Amino acid sequence: MTATTSAPSPIVTARKQLADAVAHLGYDEGLHKYLLTPRRELHVAVPLKRDDGSLEVLGGYRVQHNTDRGPAKGGIRFSEHVDIDEVRALAMWMSWKCAVADIPFGGGKGGVTIDPRNYSPAELERVTRRYTAEIAPIIGPRHDIPAPDMNTGAQNMAWIMDTYSQLQGYSVPGVVTGKPLAVGGSLGRETATSAGVVHVTESVLRDRDETLAGKTVAVQGFGNVGSHAAAIFAAKGARITAVSDRYGALRCDDGLDVTRLFAHMAATGSVVDFEGADAISNEDLLALDVDILAPCAMENVLTAQTAPTVKARIVVEGANGPTTPEADAILQRNGVTVIPDILANAGGVVVSYFEWVQANQTYWWTAAEVAERLEQKMLIAYGGVAEVAKRDGLALRDAALVIAVQRVAEAHRLRGVYP
Ligand code: NAD
Repeated sequence: MTATTSAPSPIVTARKQLADAVAHLGYDEGLHKYLLTPRRELHVAVPLKRDDGSLEVLGGYRVQHNTDRGPAKGGIRFSEHVDIDEVRALAMWMSWKCAVADIPFGGGKGGVTIDPRNYSPAELERVTRRYTAEIAPIIGPRHDIPAPDMNTGAQNMAWIMDTYSQLQGYSVPGVVTGKPLAVGGSLGRETATSAGVVHVTESVLRDRDETLAGKTVAVQGFGNVGSHAAAIFAAKGARITAVSDRYGALRCDDGLDVTRLFAHMAATGSVVDFEGADAISNEDLLALDVDILAPCAMENVLTAQTAPTVKARIVVEGANGPTTPEADAILQRNGVTVIPDILANAGGVVVSYFEWVQANQTYWWTAAEVAERLEQKMLIAYGGVAEVAKRDGLALRDAALVIAVQRVAEAHRLRGVYP
């Protein structure tokens, strides 16, 4: 576990980031409050009949932070750490992410407070379906479109799509993204976030006349984002010298065989005990002497305590909120380039947008079309952020937030306040 108890709640980090962007843009207090305040929050009880017949009641949330640029969009997380403030922070980051990527969505997020490791697949299906039924009044292809997040994946999205469709009486594939292909998913969605992580890393390197070839990379978290990022980095010639998951971390300076690591993961459920690699801790991984550090697990891993140990020159945030504001300042002082979450991991929501477009039109694109349009979106987004960073002398995170907040504020200004 790398999150420290002294780390701030993600909502504190998200609010501080917004306050900094608002100050830079010179907005007044009213507009600041508007941008800070979630448009809608739903707290739900999720009753679950356990396999042994007992009844348990879980807590769930769906937050729509801002919908000025389009319907709310954002993942659903199953974790024992989920609370309303975490969901609020993640929803706010989704508003900025969709704006930076310039896709016509606002920001939303949802979650259920549950440690999925303690539940059977049948129980997790019942939790997903009941949670969906509880939030059904506020989701929909034109209102709010969920997607996978930590501990949820394509199967959960299929159950969400089915539950919502049963309630409507007809199939609604556009209600959720990250679905399996057989029920209206998009080619390339599973690897999209990771592909985007690699595109923006290559862009930063390109600006320095460098490439990924021979670069060493440490990846924290070997889930959906981290595992595919490791595979794509490796395919582009980088050397993955360390990976981790919630059970532990490992290093191999000659480079890990990522294909074999996938097989080990599939067989054992963890990266731990992978043959030919040395066991280290998640804290050790953050401090390794690598070119690129990719935190792809969770919030608050780079803190005032861990940031001073980072030796990587580039930190690319596959996860949402892995760096606290204090850590950001330390990394900046130490000359580390941080590619911020709202830009670095936007590939997932970009291809979610493509999936939504395809599902609503019931016309599907080829893998090559998806990959090409994703790359184009990521390069344009990076180019815009790099330009503002240079123009205003800002770190990439501050530049990305300034662009995003400005776009949302502009949509709000043009739409006005009803009534
Ligand atoms: P996941 O559940 O598939 O994977 C999470 C990984 O992190 C797992 O390997 C898990 O073991 C590991 N992990 C958990 N706690 C850890 C700890 N304390 N130390 C080290 N490793 C730990 O989740 P995911 O979908 O890959 O999401 C990971 C992060 O990326 C989250 O912050 C999520 O919000 C963000 N994100 C995901 C997507 C997406 O498309 N899935 C898109 C954008 C951002």
